[in-house]
Amino acid sequence: MEYISTRNKKKKYSFKDVFLKGLASDGGLFVPKIIPSFSSKDLKKLKKLTYKQLATEVILKFCGDEFKKSEIKNIVEKSYKKFRINNVIKIKKLKKMSLIELFYGPTLAFKDIAMQMIGNMYGIILKKNNLNINIIVATSGDTGAAAIDAIKNKKNVKIFVLHPHKKISNIQRKFMTTVNSKNVFNIALDGNFDLCQRYIKSMFADEKFRSSIKMSAVNSINWSRIVAQVVYYFYSYFKVAKLEKKINFSVPTGNFGDIYSGYVAKKMGLPINKLIIATNNNDILKRVFNTGIYKPQKVKYTISPSMDIQVASNFERLIFDVHSCNSIAVTKLMQELKINGKFKIKRKILKKIKLSFCSESVTEKETKSIIKNIYKNEKLLIDPHTAVGIGAAKKISIKGKTVVLSTAHPAKFSKVVFEQTGHEPKLPGNLKKILLKKEKFKRLPKNIKKVKSYILQNV
Ligand SMILES: *Cc1c(COP(=O)(O)O)cnc(C)c1O
Repeated sequence: MEYISTRNKKKKYSFKDVFLKGLASDGGLFVPKIIPSFSSKDLKKLKKLTYKQLATEVILKFCGDEFKKSEIKNIVEKSYKKFRINNVIKIKKLKKMSLIELFYGPTLAFKDIAMQMIGNMYGIILKKNNLNINIIVATSGDTGAAAIDAIKNKKNVKIFVLHPHKKISNIQRKFMTTVNSKNVFNIALDGNFDLCQRYIKSMFADEKFRSSIKMSAVNSINWSRIVAQVVYYFYSYFKVAKLEKKINFSVPTGNFGDIYSGYVAKKMGLPINKLIIATNNNDILKRVFNTGIYKPQKVKYTISPSMDIQVASNFERLIFDVHSCNSIAVTKLMQELKINGKFKIKRKILKKIKLSFCSESVTEKETKSIIKNIYKNEKLLIDPHTAVGIGAAKKISIKGKTVVLSTAHPAKFSKVVFEQTGHEPKLPGNLKKILLKKEKFKRLPKNIKKVKSYILQNV
């Protein structure tokens, strides 16, 4: 299995390179040279597997050079042991659609599914190669918590998490700042998520800084996260659809990582009709659909903060794919974005994107009313991100069944859920105690030098 960068298809990388680097040094994202696929005979066999068995088969396809099957099986078992249900995810049938609940991991958002696995992969890869690394990650709320839980107390690795100060929910913050582990550092940056993400990208581009601290990334640009997320598209498809029937997935979208995993599943042979890009008021991707112009605007703050993103980093992977893997064309567009703050997608290319995707945005008012109505009609409490997924699916009429990804537990956003339903969703089990624990984080100004120097002091 060979990997390349979206900005240079000549240079080859191994899974280990891709895993440890996160982002290519030319600024591009890693993608497999060829996406592996399953035949319809394979699909029939895969349908019979448990979630963990299926995860082993799918992940093996992408990192078979680095790990033996037995190693992957162990990584999967270990990663999902902490989950509150044995089969990792749960499918709920509603009257008009199905939900797949992806929030049974330790920090109550779908990001645990990939992050727990990454944590255990680091464990093996670092030990095998006798390496030390430092993970730097930006979070709009949920990534940081999931990454910290996966990395805390691990050997040979420290983690620095940048979150936008006062722009994430209290519970989201507490999940990160109450973890008392020597290898965990929280930074509250006076800025928004896009700035946090820009700082990380700039640290990566700074060769000297990057190599001096042996920097690694677990943001949604990390390829192994995409791989771990592919699994639940297959699993849920097998549970809700008859083999060979095409279905749709509606995906609450921010950085385009989760939905891109769906696209990979489709490329691997899963019968998917449309992937619905569901966004809140930060509707850059919907605007791309309408105009062909990709132009980040100012971030708008919403009740679904994990999607308050204007620069959908993983979109570059799709751009690469629909340009028939032409890394020169991608580099040009990305330069255009850097210089002019926007780029235009050719009509022919946009048409290609529309074969697999559609997009809808959901307003704050609509999101709230969906939370209210789902409670009224289905007696189910849902979080605002999930509500955006449902809202987008309702606005679009397409053929076939639609499955909505339910990306966070409602208790993570209990304030708005309570306001709409009169019911306060409860934090499961022992998680209640984080509300009382002491918080620890470092607040830093909008100044990348200060952030870098804080990191250098602590590695
Ligand atoms: C991160 C996140 C999203 C967005 O996922 P992307 O992969 O960034 O598109 C949606 N919902 C929740 C709850 C999240 O934490």
